[in-house]
Amino acid sequence: MLLMLSVAESQVGLAERIRRNFSDLARCRPFLSHSVCKSGMGKGDALGLAIRCLEAEDLDEQPVESVGESLVQLEGYVQQLEVERSRRIASFDVREGHKVLGYTSVIAFLKGMCRMSGGRAKHLVSVARAAHRFRSTFLSWKYGQISTDQAQQLFKASEQLPDKYPDAEPVLLEIVGDTPDETRRILDYWRHSVDKPGVLIEEELQLARRRLDFSRKANGMIDGEFSLPAAAGETFITALDAVMPPPSASDTRTSCQRRADALEDLSRSFLEGTESSEVGGEKPHLNIHVDLDALRGLAGGLHETESGHVLTVEAVRRFACDSSLHRLVMNAESEIIDVGRRTRVIPAALRRAVIARDRHCTYKGCDRPARWCDVHHKIHWADGGETCLDNLCLLCRFHHTLIHQQVDDLVGARSI
Ligand SMILES: [Zn+2]
Ligand SMILES: [Zn+2]
Repeated sequence: MLLMLSVAESQVGLAERIRRNFSDLARCRPFLSHSVCKSGMGKGDALGLAIRCLEAEDLDEQPVESVGESLVQLEGYVQQLEVERSRRIASFDVREGHKVLGYTSVIAFLKGMCRMSGGRAKHLVSVARAAHRFRSTFLSWKYGQISTDQAQQLFKASEQLPDKYPDAEPVLLEIVGDTPDETRRILDYWRHSVDKPGVLIEEELQLARRRLDFSRKANGMIDGEFSLPAAAGETFITALDAVMPPPSASDTRTSCQRRADALEDLSRSFLEGTESSEVGGEKPHLNIHVDLDALRGLAGGLHETESGHVLTVEAVRRFACDSSLHRLVMNAESEIIDVGRRTRVIPAALRRAVIARDRHCTYKGCDRPARWCDVHHKIHWADGGETCLDNLCLLCRFHHTLIHQQVDDLVGARSI
């Protein structure tokens, strides 16, 4: 009966729906009283029942505006529950409930009884203690003047500067801002003004913790992680953003994949740019050793980096579309008997002509600008395609890779 009620009235506001379901619960009391009374958790069960009613709603049947509206309302209720949880943790903590129930600490109790991770239990206990101590911040949180995220930022600030926070609390609550981002900025400025030495120590710690670690897996994939101090991190994000325009409608990459592609773009742009310093008398560049058989997709050819890491033929064909070539002639004993001049596959004037014509990636729906594009041979030069305007087009790295995978799949399929 409850299920039908909530589905039939899916347009009604969330608060109204919960209220009605609660009153429905009262009517159902004869049926529910056994379990409610036995557990001694009447209010908790009523809340659980209201949640069951929400679960029973068919969201796909509701207008998306209504789903959005109820989402916002639900977030408000979640916040009220979070406040209540915090109040209970504080009460439990102050009265050392964990000892009564045989636990060594409140954190151990939360881990054992609420299946929390240690990190989350610790975080909730520190929030509860700060909320218990700083009542004005707690009340702003309770009455929804600040969100849970904002309250947590303020409580964290109170933990970092417990001597300074009480005096600043009323002012901070007044100027806290509407969003967690604004709150973070305001708290940063406050910390800079009242704790200059602490801020400088934090900066030194960040500097000491900077790191970039990576390793090459057996399959050639590079895995890594890094930490950058705030200022260096901002420089990195600015550079990454500069090579990462908003995705087009046809872009199916995840944001993590887009950032990874942007990092490759940055690296290539550095290697190709005039800014890069010379190493061993030459600008640094990626050296790939390949022979013509491999470029034509014939088995047995050489296709590896100078350091001996084997790349796929598709990747090498993509690089070969738009790169510099050194011709090395070897005899049967693999001794070099002739070295040709280094030449660009696409001469500069022809590249300018392709850019002037295409302006951006020519893949359907993609508008990545020319500076982040390769010049692609529609028929690869290794297969006899000409390096002339008609056989060339601009493709961004992502679509260039995609096209080579598709085209080379077709070539592979044909040759079978
Ligand atoms: Zn290509
Ligand atoms: Zn593209």
